[in-house]
Amino acid sequence: MKGKIKEGDINYVRERNNLVDVVSEYVLLKKKGKLFWGLCPFHQEKTPSFKVDPVAQLYHCFGCGEGGNVFTFVMKADHLDFPEAVESLANRIGYRLEYEAGSTPELSKKDRIYEANRLAALFYQHILLKTNEGERGRYYLKKRGLDADIVKEYGIGLAPQAWNSLGNYLVKRGYSKEEVFDAGLVVKGAKGYYDRFRGRLVFPITDIRGRVIAFGGRVLDGGQPKYLNSPETPIYHKSSTLYGLHTAKNEIIREGFIVIVEGYTDVLMLSQAGIKNVVATLGTAFTAEHVELLKRFTDRVILVFDADAAGTKAAENASAYLSEFRLPKMEALRDLERRSGTSGIDVRVVVLPQNLDPADYVGTQGAGAFRGLINTAEPFFDFYLTRELDKYNIIETQQKEQAALAGLKFIAILDPLAHEEYLSKIAQKLGLDEKVLAVKFNAMFKKSAPIRGEAKKAALDPQEKVERALLHLMMKYPEIRSNVPVEIEEGCFVSPAHSRFFTVLKEMGAGKFDTKALDDLDKNLRTKATELFLTEPEYEEENLSKYFEDILISLKDFHYKRQISKLRQELESLSSQKDIARYDELFEKLIELEAKRRDLR
Ligand SMILES: [Zn+2]
Repeated sequence: MKGKIKEGDINYVRERNNLVDVVSEYVLLKKKGKLFWGLCPFHQEKTPSFKVDPVAQLYHCFGCGEGGNVFTFVMKADHLDFPEAVESLANRIGYRLEYEAGSTPELSKKDRIYEANRLAALFYQHILLKTNEGERGRYYLKKRGLDADIVKEYGIGLAPQAWNSLGNYLVKRGYSKEEVFDAGLVVKGAKGYYDRFRGRLVFPITDIRGRVIAFGGRVLDGGQPKYLNSPETPIYHKSSTLYGLHTAKNEIIREGFIVIVEGYTDVLMLSQAGIKNVVATLGTAFTAEHVELLKRFTDRVILVFDADAAGTKAAENASAYLSEFRLPKMEALRDLERRSGTSGIDVRVVVLPQNLDPADYVGTQGAGAFRGLINTAEPFFDFYLTRELDKYNIIETQQKEQAALAGLKFIAILDPLAHEEYLSKIAQKLGLDEKVLAVKFNAMFKKSAPIRGEAKKAALDPQEKVERALLHLMMKYPEIRSNVPVEIEEGCFVSPAHSRFFTVLKEMGAGKFDTKALDDLDKNLRTKATELFLTEPEYEEENLSKYFEDILISLKDFHYKRQISKLRQELESLSSQKDIARYDELFEKLIELEAKRRDLR
């Protein structure tokens, strides 16, 4: 383990890495007034809503809501944790970090796991290409029709049959058995550690930068299991990794779309046939995390399913999308649904003819035929709907009704904009009247709660607007922060996030609110802070104190009004005869509050 990075170093790295310069390495920024604007690197957009404040060194995207400082930017853009982001930015300025007293070996635990995996890949390749034992593997690959070039390009290797070859090799190279275990390369058994992969072809799985992070292993004979993968490790998360992405990256950008298959050999065969924009999922459904990863390269995704598995795969994928996107990523789901639009991710499905996998298909029919098949790909949601409806025998009236119900449930989760289109599709497919179906749909689902993000955007509550204005001022002007009267307290805010942020700001004292202040905030408050900070002010500097006064008055007014209506409600529920004492007490309070309210103006 590396020690903790020294506080002073963190600040030094922060000061020396200008946010505008760092962001400019990812997207083009243009100066507009006091701020820099650009297209957001974290979501797809056509007009810039990503803003950087060069003085405060903060950024915020008014499209997707991301915001923060130079550290959070690098963390998000490069998928790093905080210490890694500090290290990466230190490297950027050629600065060597110092760690707090304690252990400071050269490599962190993660670095050692990367290195162990890299060595393992070289070891396996050597066995495959240079040894007698490798002959079996070479023979198998040749029989499958894979050339030496493609084998080298993807770094394929062979794990020896013996129990401890790789383990021993890495121990000789200075790794402890525990480290090799943490890297996922050996398994712990009753008699100690032994190699995870034995007598298998191994396919190195790399991250987007090309570093080996895991392996997939395939048997050469009839052994079981046919496929074996590395477990999740500190550097390998299978739901956010795609096999072959590093190799395919440039071709994906060039071709403008990506082909997603299931097997390693499918990737290799297609790539060898000249279809190089191809990757494989690693035994999981195609998930929202994959979308996040791919969004940086393309907005067109073609999923290739085998005929046998197509139905289940579609259902798996759909539920993966939906559970992942449902609430926080509603926008992303919308993106998926606007599949024919220009802004979203266009996900399509191709089903291969019976009994063929992509490798067989391209092997027997050729690349041209495969490309032709890709051109017939069907939009994912259409495909899914068809599979859903096909489950029913619609000749029977009862089954037809159930099919309609299933279809309507499916529509309900889609963007309202897509409802009409899909209602008409269901009606056509089932031979029902579209209008009748629409009436039924509206009766069943139209009154359901609005989607969260939508409701929030629809109308900014007048009180929330005032709360935002006050928090904005408190961030920008330390003198205002110390001038907020004591009557304004947490309870005056209706938004819990605003209330929380108010406390944070009050406790900040007279310090400047800047990039450093963000380090202590959770993501929720951090993006709230950058958003408020970079929102165009509604006041002129010279009218600042008047504006501040007005805000205080409105906020108090809202607060009193809320208390008054609460009191009124309680009074109404009381009987003036039975609860005389309580009634009088509340009534007095009410008079007092109303007087306070009048005094405000
Ligand atoms: Zn954005």
